[in-house]
Amino acid sequence: MTIDSILERIERVLAGFPRPVALHEPLLGEAEREAVARCVESGWVSYLGPDVERLERRLEEIHGGGHAVATASGTAALHLALVLVGVQPGDEVLMPPLTFAATANAAVYAGATPHFVDIEPRSLGACPERLERHLARTVETVSGQARNKATGRRVAALVAVHVFGHPAMTKELEDVCRRFGIILVEDAAESLGSLQDGVPVGRRGAASALSFNGNKIVTAGGGGALLCPDAKSAALARHLATTAKAPHPWKLGHDRLGFNYRMPNLNASLALAQLGRLDEFLARKRTLASRYAEAFAGLEGARVLAEPPGSRSNYWLNTILLEDSLLPVRDELFGKIREAGILIRPAWELVSSLPHFAHCPRSGLEVSQDMQPRVVNLPSSAALA
Ligand SMILES: *Cc1c(COP(=O)(O)O)cnc(C)c1O
Repeated sequence: MTIDSILERIERVLAGFPRPVALHEPLLGEAEREAVARCVESGWVSYLGPDVERLERRLEEIHGGGHAVATASGTAALHLALVLVGVQPGDEVLMPPLTFAATANAAVYAGATPHFVDIEPRSLGACPERLERHLARTVETVSGQARNKATGRRVAALVAVHVFGHPAMTKELEDVCRRFGIILVEDAAESLGSLQDGVPVGRRGAASALSFNGNKIVTAGGGGALLCPDAKSAALARHLATTAKAPHPWKLGHDRLGFNYRMPNLNASLALAQLGRLDEFLARKRTLASRYAEAFAGLEGARVLAEPPGSRSNYWLNTILLEDSLLPVRDELFGKIREAGILIRPAWELVSSLPHFAHCPRSGLEVSQDMQPRVVNLPSSAALA
């Protein structure tokens, strides 16, 4: 009965669109076709070419400053972000467990161990109060650095994740981090265009990562970008991402271990064309979010997740949260609605519960465990509004 009424509310918003309706598809048109064709004609399709630099300058404009370095993926940007802020092999990196696996993978790529901390229900991001209580119990400060009393490892950084585009409580998290000598990094892979107190997300962290994967609000086909406040860090990131190739007109040397993490110019050309439409995408997504909000108003059993107070979300993925009464029929709900050609999706399994992260330290994760099964992501492509 209630499954049917949820299906009916979604159908109301998606009326007129052919089935199946994907969860999230890029909106591509003439601008994208022209930009990519121009890039191909120029011959600059690989790691050299003007569009990468143009993309970086455009990202700096969108974020009101800072420095951007385009990368091969959001995961690569996250890995670089952690290396840049000084995460060392043997460190721990705090992060919420309700996130894409890449957040935890990047910590392991940097030689660190993920350390999971609980979330708060309004943004689904890390909870500052619970973080503070957990750190007060588990961490001691040794010469300005946080050390996990149980494992003896340094707790170097916290990655704040802006889940589904909704800004996490970054300012409060940063305050807690500062008191414990922990560095704030932002996983802004899902939140391009989101604002917090009027400031673009990704500007508060010592380094932040964006993603231009095919299902994000703006796509490069695949790709990402690192954002950091200072030019020196950006130059180091660019160097590391270019296999740490030693600068020389013709000699091929490398001055340290680097990565092949640069974005090809072909991908940058697509991202630039897409960024030219960012305001249009944001407006469409807001319209779609308000249609879902209207459709679900007053319905028992599920409510839409609204942007947290003081923030403006890009509504990358629209979300409804199931109330207790619907949890027992959750699988049936996914089956039935997907069968109707509406490709809703649950949240990721908690990263902390994946077998290869089962050994990682963690706080109590009650809120994460309570919220994860409630999440239903609704079709959110910009073309749907
Ligand atoms: C997409 C995403 C990433 C990784 O981005 P890729 O470009 O796919 O490597 C990281 N974190 C979150 C939360 C994401 O959604």
